[in-house]
Amino acid sequence: MNIHHGGNCPVRSVTMKSECLACGGRLRPSGRYVGLSRCEACSFTTADLALSEEQLRQLYTAHYFAGDEYRDYVADRPVIEKQFRVRLRRLLKFVPAERRRNLFEIGCAHGFFLALAQEAFDAVEGIDISADATEYGREVLGLNTQNAEFLSYPFTSVPDVVSMWDTIEHLSRPDLYIGKIAEALAPGGILALTTADLESWAAKIRGNKWRQIHPPTHLHYFSRRTLHMLLGRFGLEVVYMGTEGMYRSVDTMAYIILCLKSNRHNLYARLKNTGLLNWDLYLNLGDILFVVAKKA
Ligand SMILES: [Zn+2]
Repeated sequence: MNIHHGGNCPVRSVTMKSECLACGGRLRPSGRYVGLSRCEACSFTTADLALSEEQLRQLYTAHYFAGDEYRDYVADRPVIEKQFRVRLRRLLKFVPAERRRNLFEIGCAHGFFLALAQEAFDAVEGIDISADATEYGREVLGLNTQNAEFLSYPFTSVPDVVSMWDTIEHLSRPDLYIGKIAEALAPGGILALTTADLESWAAKIRGNKWRQIHPPTHLHYFSRRTLHMLLGRFGLEVVYMGTEGMYRSVDTMAYIILCLKSNRHNLYARLKNTGLLNWDLYLNLGDILFVVAKKA
């Protein structure tokens, strides 16, 4: 969902690593997932892609949010907000009142989460690879959202909380991101993230057809174990790891199934006219992890 990267990227030379990001082990072609590599030691799985910054940027133009990956991110704001309210409530359980000063979001997209979080935090700030999305955050929502590259972005204040929703799987080098976040947080500071769980039942049953397997936007596939390892390497202790459900707009699901997948636009239009599509469904397939880690 939310994206990363961006700006005048001075880290153009950052490429994928040939060893495992989680443990440093050796990567081998994954037998199970076409086009993915898997660590021999810890089973961390990754797309074997060396995308340039420009190629990455091209993935996250306005089309990403309206047509490619999302039907219409802005039109879906009500259902996305429902999701984000649940997330924020969950996150706040780990953030005592005196630590609700600065929240920094990596991959903030249009700023829908920040708009909610600013009710709980003194100051919120976000960056994203998508210039269109961050402009929306600034111009429409009046937020401090920047189109910038996180690895070269200077923090203007010490963050109490860094959030990365559905973003880590999109990054070329999540290890560099985690390292920088860990360094920036004050002791006791929190990193909260969501990402898909490759070792969930849904992933195991669906195999290559699991909806989360889609390189090149999803480059890395984590599990509880590999997240523990990656975060631990940088001194971040996991204090909570659970699954998160998703609110889905029934309208959007019908649109994907009927229009995008089976070209039955008339049926979709008829259903939409009945009003039957005007509700949201909460689904927890157990394959999205919600993780809170604390700097010692
Ligand atoms: Zn490994």
